[in-house]
Amino acid sequence: MYRDTWMEVDLDAIADNVRTIHKICGKKFIAVIKADAYGCGDIQVARACLEAGAEMLAVSSLDEAMILRNEGYGGELLILGAVNPEDCEVVAENDLTTAAISMDWVREVVKHPCAGMKVHLAVDTGMNRIGFREIREMKEARDLLLEAGVNLTGIFTHFCCTDTSREMTDRQYLKFAEAVKALDYPFEWIHCDNSDATIFFKDSLSNACRVGISLYGISGFTSELKPALALYTKLVMSKLVPAGETIGYGATYETKTTERIGTIPIGYADGFIRANQGRMVYADGCYAQVVGRVCMDQTMIRLPEQKQNGTVVEIFGPHISLEQMASELHTIPYEIISLISGRVTRLYRKAGRISSESNERILKSEL
Ligand SMILES: *Cc1c(COP(=O)(O)O)cnc(C)c1O
Repeated sequence: MYRDTWMEVDLDAIADNVRTIHKICGKKFIAVIKADAYGCGDIQVARACLEAGAEMLAVSSLDEAMILRNEGYGGELLILGAVNPEDCEVVAENDLTTAAISMDWVREVVKHPCAGMKVHLAVDTGMNRIGFREIREMKEARDLLLEAGVNLTGIFTHFCCTDTSREMTDRQYLKFAEAVKALDYPFEWIHCDNSDATIFFKDSLSNACRVGISLYGISGFTSELKPALALYTKLVMSKLVPAGETIGYGATYETKTTERIGTIPIGYADGFIRANQGRMVYADGCYAQVVGRVCMDQTMIRLPEQKQNGTVVEIFGPHISLEQMASELHTIPYEIISLISGRVTRLYRKAGRISSESNERILKSEL
């Protein structure tokens, strides 16, 4: 890493969070590491979760699943999104599990060599994204899949309002319970709880939780988890700018007095979006405001006092929580971290020290 902009991923904190949540819920643990583990690095996060006792990993697509298989992961691996029916042979050959998303999907799948493929039936209880709505169709799907030699190993649903409406969650749960009962099948995996529901919704029906965001210590329902992520950069220069000058593209900010303007090597191509203009970052003991437009690769900040070049600047971390940043940007932590681009090096903390980094391709010559 030569450019000083990095995200620290604390694998010790992630492992602790897995153990803490596992203890709270007392069920099998499915670690949701889709989208490159929400931008944190699927291989590294997967390893930390498995070492801490996770029984299954979940991803969003067949591509994401194959990355983990090609890296040598041979354990339980669930695909939560749609797989093209013609690719079910790949699912079966690689001992993957995928979601049965609709009647159309099942009818197509059984025309292909799908024997031995493991499937979890997706039940749509109100999210209206994927899954079956009618019990009659679920039964028909069950029978078609079993006839074709598919292994029906699980059933699940997804809650849409765990952060806002307990009533909606209750209603979805009742529908799910009704479906599980009506299908009368010995499912090995029954799951409905995302991170939030795993903490606050103590249901007696499911035997596994499906946890994504709380791996990183983010939860509105418990303070027992450890924050695992921080985003940093370093000051590359600073200077005094006289009153009446403008900063950056579009000249959107004008200095009112002589101001100390610093430059940091992070921009919207790193996932530090332009909406960050006007927000604060933290530079060694003081907060500094982002002034002028965020550029693609660089950003200017107004420093309240002189700071040396090389001073570490925190974008989010111990002084500005990811939750606070998300709220100020009118979004959710998921979006902020999954948008942090591949250009930002991930530094992994393990056994208390930095053990590895992403972007090792910088150190290799491949062309
Ligand atoms: C992403 C996802 C999860 C994880 O949700 P978190 O809120 O991050 O815990 C669980 N289940 C499904 C189906 C998902 O798509």
